Amino acid sequence: MLSFIKSKQACTGCGACQAVCPTECITLDIDEEGFWYPNAGSACIDCGRCEEVCPIVNRVPVDDTKQYCVAGRHNNTDVWLASTSGGAFSAICQAFENPAIAIFGAKHLDKSNVIHDFVTNINDIDCFRKSKYSQSNMSGNYCSIRRFLEEGRRVIFSGTPCQVAGVRNFLNKDYDNLLCIDLICHGVGSPGIFDKYINYLEGANDSEVVSFEFRSKRIVKGLLNQNITRTKFVDGRILENKNDIFYQAFIQALILRPSCGECIFAKTDRVGDLTIGDLNNMQAFLPESDKCVNYSTIIVNTEKGDTIMKKLNEYMDLYPVDLDAIAKYNSALISSTQMNQKRADLFVDLRHGYPINEVLEKYITEVS
Ligand SMILES: Cc1cc2nc3c(=O)[nH]c(=O)nc-3n(C[C@H](O)[C@H](O)[C@H](O)COP(=O)(O)OP(=O)(O)OC[C@H]3O[C@@H](n4cnc5c(N)ncnc54)[C@H](O)[C@@H]3O)c2cc1C
Ligand code: SF4
Ligand code: SF4
Ligand code: SF4
Repeated sequence: MLSFIKSKQACTGCGACQAVCPTECITLDIDEEGFWYPNAGSACIDCGRCEEVCPIVNRVPVDDTKQYCVAGRHNNTDVWLASTSGGAFSAICQAFENPAIAIFGAKHLDKSNVIHDFVTNINDIDCFRKSKYSQSNMSGNYCSIRRFLEEGRRVIFSGTPCQVAGVRNFLNKDYDNLLCIDLICHGVGSPGIFDKYINYLEGANDSEVVSFEFRSKRIVKGLLNQNITRTKFVDGRILENKNDIFYQAFIQALILRPSCGECIFAKTDRVGDLTIGDLNNMQAFLPESDKCVNYSTIIVNTEKGDTIMKKLNEYMDLYPVDLDAIAKYNSALISSTQMNQKRADLFVDLRHGYPINEVLEKYITEVS
């Protein structure tokens, strides 16, 4: 790790330090839990820029003077179906659209690697839809964001708050043409474990995995089930699982990055212009609502966010909601996730070489 980072809990793996290094001597190396951490090589000239840009050392200023909150659902059913919550991300992209746009988000690079990337046509944003519960790698994105902004393109950056903070510190100035969207964030899962899990699925099903999707939407007994994973195999089979063990281990905070247990971004002061997340306990806010749908929470944090919000009703059905009430049902908005007490034992078992499926099954608490 870099010398100014005192513990693994501090480093979020945002990669801003790597992007700013003038000698390009920082590598992001995978540790035994499957998360990457920055290390400086022998070409380091001790310039200190990595420390300056690190959002853990230098906090990003937040402007929440305009803060208010709405619940919303995309008015195009196909877009809603393809999205995790109510389709806020897609609607925001539509509201910010421009012939010269670049949209950055997280996508599956292949069956097991999640990366951040960009598209320059709004019709191509489908790859960013749906939450991926393995940490996305930001390498290569920082310089592209700056280049597009300097060229005068409109840029949307969407990611976890620690990634948004990395981007804002890296840019080190405000751009009128940049819109940042941060997610309400419970934490990110281990990319190393996700890779092992995909390998296990391939072995168990004797076929190569083509794609893996979290939170497919299905109607079960008249209610929306949004916790189904969907795995496609090369032989054409599709496996749908409502008790996926990777997803459960993620939800139960067994395989989250250490920094997620001490997250400095889990508060209502937000680093994005807009914050998006799930609308938990929908019935409390929209008692008349159909039980077969779900909604996004959208928090407006800045003037720029407010400008976009004014155009959002073209694409979404929107309902004002109280931010304090939202926080009451969505703890990730105000406090960092408490790590599962069995997390350390799980990683010890993995170090001893026990199979990934047996280890995950051993530590997750069964859900009905
Ligand atoms: C790791 C993670 C943890 C989350 N935890 C919570 C939570 O505790 N409470 C809550 O209310 N909401 C949480 N969310 C947000 C929620 O799952 C939805 O992503 C959000 O409501 C947006 O829904 P949508 O319908 O607008 O988006 P979609 O169209 O599904 O868009 C998903 C957006 O998420 C981004 N994204 C997807 N995967 C990643 C990733 N691995 N890293 C960075 N960005 C990613 C994409 O770039 C895209 O902008 C989390 C999301 C992620 C990725
Ligand atoms: S900039 Fe990001 S990756 Fe680098 S040390 Fe800080 S938190 Fe870690
Ligand atoms: S001190 Fe400067 S040269 Fe050394 S790793 Fe940090 S940014 Fe790179
Ligand atoms: S919980 Fe915090 S540290 Fe972890 S990914 Fe989310 S914003 Fe980053």
